[in-house]
Amino acid sequence: MTDFEDSQEFAQTLDRNDSLASYREQFIFPKEKNGYSPVYLCGNSLGLQPKLAAEFVQDELRNWADYAVDGHFHSERPWLSYHRRATAGFAELTGARPLEVVAMNTLTVNLHILMASFYKPTETRFKIVIESQAFPSDRYAAASQLRMHGFNPESALLEWTPRPGETQLHTEDLAALIESEGDNIALLLLPGVQYYTGQVLDMAAICELAGAAGCAVGLDLAHAVGNVDLELHEWAPDFAAWCTYKYLNSGPGSIAGAFVHEKHFASDKLNQLHGWWGHDEATRFKMSTTFTPAEGAELWQMSNPPILALAPVIASLKIFQEVGLAALIEKSTSLTAYLEWLLEQRFEGRIGSITPKDSRGCQLSLVVNDSQISARGLFEKLYQRNVTGDWREPDVIRVAPVPLYNSYSDVFELAQRLSEAFP
Ligand SMILES: *Cc1c(COP(=O)(O)O)cnc(C)c1O
Repeated sequence: MTDFEDSQEFAQTLDRNDSLASYREQFIFPKEKNGYSPVYLCGNSLGLQPKLAAEFVQDELRNWADYAVDGHFHSERPWLSYHRRATAGFAELTGARPLEVVAMNTLTVNLHILMASFYKPTETRFKIVIESQAFPSDRYAAASQLRMHGFNPESALLEWTPRPGETQLHTEDLAALIESEGDNIALLLLPGVQYYTGQVLDMAAICELAGAAGCAVGLDLAHAVGNVDLELHEWAPDFAAWCTYKYLNSGPGSIAGAFVHEKHFASDKLNQLHGWWGHDEATRFKMSTTFTPAEGAELWQMSNPPILALAPVIASLKIFQEVGLAALIEKSTSLTAYLEWLLEQRFEGRIGSITPKDSRGCQLSLVVNDSQISARGLFEKLYQRNVTGDWREPDVIRVAPVPLYNSYSDVFELAQRLSEAFP
């Protein structure tokens, strides 16, 4: 990995030796623009469309046409159990047992549904910990949960903050916060990968700290799932949730995932927000007045799921299961290292990264240290040159070479277009 070269031929050679290179053909790239081919490095925000997605959606449109209501029970992939087609893929990607995961709703909705069960404040233990740069939706969700229970977020929403002048979060600082707030904390709601900096947090340590302090812990895996190794069953957070339109390439607003640890399944102390899809399937259609709980995480389902929004998730997970996360992570490590190396070679610190080298997935969060051009100015020039990264206020350009469909040549092309755009 230290023997990189700054040349197109070298990038092409790496592509030829890449055993995952052919997966690129299974995805649809945006169009050429201003004479530039697309360099799509935004899979951390919206993953590209797998060609298989259209086929899976068409199948269900056809089943709806051909079977109408019988599609629930009698089509090739009956809708009654359609969500279960995501179970094995979700379990593999998150290191969960199949019973612990379920495809349902969207991410923020799942955070609320899971907090309804796992945020159980008492008069003395009621505070929620988030990180200070938390994705706005997570912050709003946590603050509104506090308000729903009669607490004031001003004092009851605690923040794990980077040290002055730094952007990284240190686990020791979270430990210190838990130590000082002691028995007041009811819940930690934290990400697996920090969306702005791309830092992978030490999820195992976070879960351990929470457990030792008697707090519940929920992980938001929006930027982690399909990107980094996850061992949810072993780490044992109480719950987790993730969206599927980022690294999981399932389309805008696609159906999300949720995890509830097995240790809670036998509990009679939990409440869920019930609906008929959380009722045991065997007797669901007896339409009884009493509720018989479904087994595992499916108990948290409420409605029959939107099949057309679930179809691309099933298509996409099929690809992930075929490739395997380990192979993806291996390529991701070298692809991102190549990008980082090229930037260091060419720009010698004028373009830097705030993403920690030793704990990251495929995203680099770039900052510009130059008197001639601002990060925003550079981002605009890249955009004109058909490079899709994304801009995050106040001053970061996020780029994510995704191992499933990005190539070493993409990364080289980014460096080329950065050189062109740089004054
Ligand atoms: C992308 C993302 C969201 C988006 O929430 P939706 O409910 O899917 O709109 C929420 N939280 C985090 C951390 C994210 O990265």
